[in-house]
Amino acid sequence: MSALKLRIIPVNFEGGESGQARSEGNNAAWICRCGESIPLLGRCFPPNNPSETVCPVPKCGRRYIVQLGPGNRPYSVKEISPRSCALAEMNCVVSRSGDFFENIDMIRQSGFDGFVTISSLQKSNCREVPSDPGVYLVVRTEAAPPEFLNESIGGHFKGKTPTVLVSVLESKWVDDAVVLYIGKAGPDENRTLKTRLNEYMQFGQGTPIGHSGGRFIWQLGGSGNLLVCWKPTPNTDPRTVEKDLIQQFQAVYKKLPFANIYH
Ligand SMILES: [Zn+2]
Repeated sequence: MSALKLRIIPVNFEGGESGQARSEGNNAAWICRCGESIPLLGRCFPPNNPSETVCPVPKCGRRYIVQLGPGNRPYSVKEISPRSCALAEMNCVVSRSGDFFENIDMIRQSGFDGFVTISSLQKSNCREVPSDPGVYLVVRTEAAPPEFLNESIGGHFKGKTPTVLVSVLESKWVDDAVVLYIGKAGPDENRTLKTRLNEYMQFGQGTPIGHSGGRFIWQLGGSGNLLVCWKPTPNTDPRTVEKDLIQQFQAVYKKLPFANIYH
């Protein structure tokens, strides 16, 4: 029987500062940059599956992963921005190049697929959408100012109109944002991207279906030309990925995406 050897490994904080972590076996313990005196604990799981540790101090919420080194032992602890992690999902590849939400290419690079217009999804009944849980985005590439309709074209579920005042839409609009809505499907097995998006698309054709999430989209002129893209999240709860994406959006624009109403 051999005792686990205690090792000191570096902690790499965002912004270039570094600290030290104590590591034993596949565990590591370190002090968060916010100064909380109780050490944070993390571990790595081979082969390439770091788990995230989030600082529990309110308003801190810094995130860390323990990086794997030779012999499947912790090599270093790395602070990750929320942005990096949700996008790379399990691999947690940290990319700091610009802004995820800036353009379609960057959204594509972070694993989203599809980029199909709303009208074609409505025609195909979402045949091309995978039957997996995941997250999806409604994106707009036009630079022209939006046209808000007085009347939503969405369905009246249980007799309720999805229409809101144009002033509400104006206040919800996010200038320069490509992403208009962040949605999720799952984790229930019968809530797949295909079924969820299909309901959403039908709601947008006036079918009285209970899909009020993202309904502001149906009060935009030319909504049929907006693009939809999706990303299956086989290893992560789509609610977590969705929440991360919304947080990243908020960090950049200081507002929720146009058609997201709740956190
Ligand atoms: Zn902290």
